[in-house]
Amino acid sequence: MIIDRAEVVVTSPDRNFVTLKLTTDDGLTGLGDATLNGRELSVVSYLRDHVVPLLLGRDAARIEDTWQFLYRSAYWRRGPVTMAAIAAVDVALWDIKAKAAGMPLYQLLGGACRSGLLAYGHASGKELPELFDSVREHQEQGFRAIRIQSGVPGLVNIYGIASNARFEANAGVRYDHEPAQRGALPAEEDWDSRAYLRHLPTVFEAVRNEFGPELPLLHDAHHRLTPIQAARLGRSLEPYDLFWLEDCTPAENQEALRLVRRHTVTPLAIGEVFNTVWDYQQIIREQLIDYVRSAVTHTGGITHLRRVLDFAAQYQIKSGMHGPTDISPVGMAAALHLGLAIHNFGIQEYMPHGAKTNAVFRQTFTWDNGLLHPGEQPGIGVDLDLDEAGKYPYAQAYLPFNRLADGTVHDW
Ligand SMILES: [Mg+2]
Repeated sequence: MIIDRAEVVVTSPDRNFVTLKLTTDDGLTGLGDATLNGRELSVVSYLRDHVVPLLLGRDAARIEDTWQFLYRSAYWRRGPVTMAAIAAVDVALWDIKAKAAGMPLYQLLGGACRSGLLAYGHASGKELPELFDSVREHQEQGFRAIRIQSGVPGLVNIYGIASNARFEANAGVRYDHEPAQRGALPAEEDWDSRAYLRHLPTVFEAVRNEFGPELPLLHDAHHRLTPIQAARLGRSLEPYDLFWLEDCTPAENQEALRLVRRHTVTPLAIGEVFNTVWDYQQIIREQLIDYVRSAVTHTGGITHLRRVLDFAAQYQIKSGMHGPTDISPVGMAAALHLGLAIHNFGIQEYMPHGAKTNAVFRQTFTWDNGLLHPGEQPGIGVDLDLDEAGKYPYAQAYLPFNRLADGTVHDW
């Protein structure tokens, strides 16, 4: 099992995806997701120019050794570009090892800890009737847990809310499914924390009145609040029993969560922009969060995210892996195998990909009665159709950014 070929495939069916494909001298192939939303080509260069030459001729069986070699020999550690590139190599090697063993990856990771993975979907609406329709649609699709994002009076374009104008501007891809818009410049959105803090509890009150007390509800504050604002939001949402409040403050400052924690018992989830165990060191040890939001794709692969989640398990902190559409089907498959095998699985974010994406990446995972399962095909269970992928060249796209009413750039 010597790595004989390493190809970096860029394709843009519904959005941009970067995939690493490794082939061994005995003909086994493995796939890894290296998609970094809005900065895709930087990972392509990292892989093509600096990692692929190091992989050729290496023993594909030595996953841990390869991980340590790529992490330590670069000297410049961590960061989203580096860790997405290492993740792609790691997942491709696990895919190869599981194929060589003739078993689905979750079996190699210790076997199933549950029969399926609880997943949550994204409901959104500018006004309540639209939001209620969106919640009902998700329930009809089988979702048993739902994230709620709402418009805020006075704000026109905000994170997480679809609109018809945006649908047309982005070639028919729903904005609440894909905030990265194709084009040469990032879209500008609006923000006002005080208006949001006044409005959001009324939305959750209405949703609870309409859908009852049992449905698990989540919400993403998307890094836009100060610690004291986040504390106030968590406290004001307590009557509505959230499954979690996500990214309530900018994630860089782990200490901020001490203040939030002091004032609210609303469960907290954070970490989709983190990429190593070091980013979690304080918030896990001090039990400042309840869910780890990292994706396999952005956190050094199966090898490293498992290390984070094993650390978290000592503190009864569970997984809540990031799973928007910019996690490719390859990254999602890796997440499902890991989630099935760990004991401290919490919930999986799930936004179904579009038909074009599913034709490029042929998948074996199942979605049944609100539960995801990675399937029983040896490896991670995803095949990349290079002919289909070749139909969709890279298209420049950026995530949006926020400005306040006075023109100040704000966290998005
Ligand atoms: Mg989020």
